[in-house]
This record gives sequence, C-alpha cells and structure tokens, in this order.
Amino acid sequence: MRRKVMILGCTGSIGSSALKGIQADPDRFEIVAISGHRNAQKITKILSAFPIPNVCLSDEIEANGTIDIPSTTTIYKGRRGLLEMIAAVDADIVLNGIIGSAGLEPTIACLHAKKDVALANKESLVMAGNLVLELAKANGVSLYPVDSEHAAIEALIRAHTKTAIESLILTASGGPFRNLEKDKFTSITVEQAIAHPTWNMGPKISVDSATLANKGLEVIEAAVLFGFESSRIEVVIHPQSIVHSMIRMRDGSLYAQLSKPDMVHPIMQALGHDMPVMPDVVTALDFSRLSLEFSLPDFERFPMLSMAKTCASYLGAYPIAFNAANEVAVQLFVEKKISFTSISEIVRQVLTYDWSRPAISLEHILEIDAMARSKSKFLAQGYRIQT
Ligand code: MG
Repeated sequence: MRRKVMILGCTGSIGSSALKGIQADPDRFEIVAISGHRNAQKITKILSAFPIPNVCLSDEIEANGTIDIPSTTTIYKGRRGLLEMIAAVDADIVLNGIIGSAGLEPTIACLHAKKDVALANKESLVMAGNLVLELAKANGVSLYPVDSEHAAIEALIRAHTKTAIESLILTASGGPFRNLEKDKFTSITVEQAIAHPTWNMGPKISVDSATLANKGLEVIEAAVLFGFESSRIEVVIHPQSIVHSMIRMRDGSLYAQLSKPDMVHPIMQALGHDMPVMPDVVTALDFSRLSLEFSLPDFERFPMLSMAKTCASYLGAYPIAFNAANEVAVQLFVEKKISFTSISEIVRQVLTYDWSRPAISLEHILEIDAMARSKSKFLAQGYRIQT
C-alpha cells in the first residue's frame, strides 16, 4: 500500500522539493491531490508529469495563464474549494507548504478531517499553537514538522530522553547580511535581501531570513511544538546550514543533526515518518571539505529576532501580532514602498499595543490577525519611501 499524499502549495519551494522526493520513491508514495496558488505554468507541468486525481486552483492562478488539466482530474477552486478538497479527498497525510497566515485555515481543516499533517507552514503554530495542538489531540492526528530545524530537533528528541534536555539550539544561516555593518542596513535593496546564500526559497521567507524574523518565528514554533519555554531555546548563527539544529543536555553534552541543506530530507522524513529512511535522499557529507562556523546572533542589527523571542515568552496574542505586522511590512518592502529597516520599526510599533489577551478560537485568532494588519498598514504610512 502506497502512502497517499496531498500537497498544499505545490508550486512553491516546499512543493517542488516534495515532488522531487516522491518522484524518487514511487513505490511508497502517491500524490492524490495538489493545490497551487500562483504559477499556472508550473501546475500544468506537474499535472502532466504525475497522474494526480484532484487539484485545487486559487482564484489568482487562473489570471496568470491557462492551465491544462486532464479530463480525469477533479477540480476544486478558490479558498472554499481548498477546504472542501481537504475534507473530501482520501489522503493519509497532507503536506502544508502554503506560505504565511494563509496556511492556518487549511491546517485546521486537516485536523478536523482527521488527516495527519506534515507542517511546513510555521504560521499555523505561531498564530494558533494551542488550538492546533488541542485539535490534533482531540482528533487523534499527528503533526510532523517540516521546517529543517524542527525536523532535526524532533529526530534528536526521539533519540534521547526529553527530560534530560536542558535547551534546544536552533541554527540560523544568518542570511545575506550576517557581516554587514549596521549603518548600511537602511540602503539594503529587495534584490539583495532575496538572494539567500544557502537556501533557495520564495521572496517572503528569503526576506524573513535576511531580517532573522524567520528564526524568530521558528523560536515561537519550537516553543509551541516541543513545549519548551523561550528561555530554553537558543539561536546560533551557522552560515553553512549543515548543522540543522542541536539539543543541549543537562549533563553538558550536545547532540546535533547534520546534512547538506536540502529540504527534500525533512519533507521525506515527515511524509515517511515511520518508514525506513530512503538511502539516497541527501548526498553524504564530505569531511575532507567540511568547515563549520558558529557565532552568536547580533540582536542589535537583527531586532526582529529579539522581538520574536519576547513575543514567545509572553502569553496572549503577541505572536499573532508579530507575524501579521511582519507579513504586512515585508510585502511593502518587496513592493519597494518601505526600506529594509522600516520592517522592524513597524513591527516594533505594532507590538507597543496591548496584545496580552489570548485568542482561543480560530475566529478570534483571525480577528486579532486582521486588527494587527490594519494597525500595521496605518503605521506603515509614516515609513513610505517618498518618490
Ligand atoms: Mg527553517
């Protein structure tokens, strides 16, 4: 019996890596459904390469070109169609590779539909950590982290005694501005920010890696997922992205997970969680060329990381506000309407409001998210680049 996989966000970088991994292992996996948001050409290519019986197209994707769909494929459309497809299609596991807060509702829909989730959408845990964990438990659903750091930590925790762990250590590549002087940050361009040194990803997550907001979101994600307080989650800069994460034991020792930076590995680890790992997922490390560097993050040049850590340590809706403000600000930066340093300034201002009241239901979470977005957009007006 092959494992039936549904891939949400199949035209993005996570989707592409998943297709690569599944294509290499057709005896164990089959794709039963995909969804695509933007790239019409890519989804046509995927549908011609794989016999996929169900597809969901976003409203945006059809404006970007014609899509050839085999007559045997069932088509779902838009946001509502996506939630319908999640509920209706028989799948063993859903890979949620949707970027940003748009991935939250699909995650919740998977949990209600009692489908296991390979979660690449960190916002689901950042915005609705408690709700997601509660629903997973109530519906007997398992969550498998796909973020490379969290997949590494999960594997490390599985191999050791959790109570013997002192802290989790997330590694960060440091992004393209790791060594840039502070006074040069204001003139960083969009093109420079999205050119990531080790990972090839979409614009949102690339900018988040450049500001270290991505690592901040991952601290919150790890706190929720593994039940560690943020004071017990360390961040270490490691430019080679070979050590994906570590655990520090109470006895003073450290354990690390190492492999070449390739998302196929954490994705296939999640999709094939109880299967023997494929031998050729990642190429072996060559020790004759291996050189690993580590340093501590500079919170002054990268204020997004310290703000996220603070949000992770507060109860309430601070992580929702942090995420929403960052999404709004990054979008404006990518559109060249604000500067790179304005991203953290806008987020800082949004966080001065009181977000201490915790959000319990999905409706309430989305309400707070919308409120934080509108405050961010309003505040952003003061940071607009004059043209
Ligand atoms: Mg990551």
